[in-house]
Amino acid sequence: MNAGPANGALLTLSGVEVTINTLSGPVHPLQGVDLEVFPGETVGLVGESGCGKSMTLRSILRLMPPGGAITGGAVEWQDRSVLDLDTDELQTYRGSDVAMIYQNPVTALDPMLSVERQIVDAFKANREVLDGAPEEFAREALRDLEFGNPDAILKRYPHQLSGGMAQRVNIALALACGPSLILADEPTTGLDMTTQVRVLDLLEQQVSARNAALLFISHDLRAVARVARNIGIMYAGRVVEFGPRERILTEPSHPYARALLDCVDLRAGERPRSIPGLVPRMTEVYQFCAFRDRCAYRMAVCDEEPLPVHDLGGRRRLLCHLGPDHD
Ligand code: SF4
Repeated sequence: MNAGPANGALLTLSGVEVTINTLSGPVHPLQGVDLEVFPGETVGLVGESGCGKSMTLRSILRLMPPGGAITGGAVEWQDRSVLDLDTDELQTYRGSDVAMIYQNPVTALDPMLSVERQIVDAFKANREVLDGAPEEFAREALRDLEFGNPDAILKRYPHQLSGGMAQRVNIALALACGPSLILADEPTTGLDMTTQVRVLDLLEQQVSARNAALLFISHDLRAVARVARNIGIMYAGRVVEFGPRERILTEPSHPYARALLDCVDLRAGERPRSIPGLVPRMTEVYQFCAFRDRCAYRMAVCDEEPLPVHDLGGRRRLLCHLGPDHD
């Protein structure tokens, strides 16, 4: 794949591998993630729990869990290696270049600080964008997130907010330093359906209004399809298919992508079904296709050769021995 600034990408992940040393042995949640995010675009990553979605976001921010390390590949922000940033550079990168919206909106906020204090502190962390009182910026940030009475919300503490309100505050915080890329880790999990739709719409509007890029991960294909123009399908620590939303939702090539789509009938709104077979154990490093025990198309080559990478142009990429053109 192309790497670095030559292709104009904001963010490029090339063959990223992560290993976590646990008491019961090493775990390998990322086994060669390739991904690009371009300025102003929305990208979604979808897959079952444990496929490596959250760890991909962690690797972008170099936020490893205890015992965890990036053990292979490259993470590049424009023309710089994220893995080589020093402590000060890393602090600027986290927040000013790339900001994160976490899954649990209430615990993502500091319980000891008022909403006003948290947003003001985030603005102060990036003084270059300040052109007035930070308190007014905080008020404006909440108005952008459709809080009708921002002054009342600014005085509250996280435990005094509903889940939907807390997630809107988190979005305001993530946007506060004007990042070029927002990472969103299952930001609507745990919210009721109406609130989910509202939060997703606001997130999409605000990211678009600032011409920022969004990398959104979820196990919910419907949520990803709502906000992302390009979608990657993750399985066992790799992005096994990537392409434009319309293509992925109507003509996916990878058998796992097809199975995932079959699980959720996006038109009829049916209850999700499950994919037969077991999710692979990430204690193993998969030399061959990790989906082969669940795949109806499995061939001899799938057990004998490493996965080929088909670069199909138009942002399409596929990792499967079947290739793109099969029934
Ligand atoms: Fe199925 Fe083989 Fe493709 Fe894996 S590589 S998804 S086993 S056809």
